[in-house]
Amino acid sequence: MIPSVLPTYARAPLNFVKGEGSWLIEADGRRFLDLGSGIAVNVLGHAHPDLVEALTSQANNLWHVSNLYEIPQQQALADKLVDKSFADTVFFTNSGTEACELAVKMARKYWYDKGQKNRVEIITYEGSFHGRSSAGIAAAGSEKMTKGFGPLLPGFVHLPWGDIEATNAAITENTAAVLVEPVQGEGGIRPMPDADMKALREICDEAGILLILDEVQCGVGRTGRLFAHEWAGITPDIMMVAKGIGGGFPLGAVLATEEAASGMTAGTHGSTYGGNPLGCAVGNAVMTHVADDEFLAGVNARAGLLRQKLESLVASHPDVFEEVRGTGLMLGLRCKASVPCGDVVKAGYDAQVITVPAADNVVRLLPALNLTEEDIAEALTRLETAAVSLQKQPA
Ligand SMILES: *Cc1c(COP(=O)(O)O)cnc(C)c1O
Repeated sequence: MIPSVLPTYARAPLNFVKGEGSWLIEADGRRFLDLGSGIAVNVLGHAHPDLVEALTSQANNLWHVSNLYEIPQQQALADKLVDKSFADTVFFTNSGTEACELAVKMARKYWYDKGQKNRVEIITYEGSFHGRSSAGIAAAGSEKMTKGFGPLLPGFVHLPWGDIEATNAAITENTAAVLVEPVQGEGGIRPMPDADMKALREICDEAGILLILDEVQCGVGRTGRLFAHEWAGITPDIMMVAKGIGGGFPLGAVLATEEAASGMTAGTHGSTYGGNPLGCAVGNAVMTHVADDEFLAGVNARAGLLRQKLESLVASHPDVFEEVRGTGLMLGLRCKASVPCGDVVKAGYDAQVITVPAADNVVRLLPALNLTEEDIAEALTRLETAAVSLQKQPA
């Protein structure tokens, strides 16, 4: 019999009932160190007092009004994002994949309004993830996500991950944009080198096409800068954000330059809930913390410490791990071919530490950006326990 919850997830038998900072408390009372953050969502940990205050005080005043009216919390958050990024304008969504929908529509409308109606193609890369909407799965293109779901939204050109030469060669008079994650998340924590990000920007400039960055997972402080592309010293034309921006409240956004957004006039797009007062009240509180140089310096310091400890974990467990990869607090432990990453995640559950599997046999570590040094020490103790339990037993 089908479960009452549609079984599209293979769930672990864990029932978390409370969260405190980097810790999750199971119904049976066990405390788990959370290095997954609901997949890069809870950037300030669980139940941060400022976020609780922002949400509850907004809840006491006004939950929802339509985008037919002014929403001051939305205006304030848009102003903050514009102030802190390349963008001139912002549209709010409830999720990452909705941000992808708009990014695709925006790029196509841009060219349509320029009289180049043929320019509808968007170049994307193998291993990418842009969510589970029809545009999102067509953009990513993997068989795992698209098989069985009928005709896909046309117009996506899929290239090998990070292949700059192939990108150059693939651009035609039908190309509207390039869409890429600066650091692939689901694809196995694969950062695009800064030099390649720069090259992509140059290629797009030369061809006069748009660069769309999907920073749904790598944005909002995750890499130690507010947005990951800042490391490469480039800016996109359009950027997708979600996950961390809501700190645990469903919120996403598309940020764009005035030029790239020029086709999106009144009536061309919309969302009932997108940018609602509750989500934006929390988003403002998240930004107040994360969009701060001192906070980001702290992220880099914690990232350096965690990475150093993970390098020694990998060195002392060569039977289990192959390498540490990633950037900032978006880190991956690539497992030996003989050790499925899912086994490491499960062994972590036994050691009461939460990690997230990804493609390419990688275990993802996406901790709260404000985890403490004690949390980092505890992380290593628990990952060590998990690794020892998986080590090849001497014959
Ligand atoms: C999670 C994710 C998405 C989809 O976000 P949802 O909120 O699940 O729709 C899109 N792109 C990237 C890079 C992601 O990590």
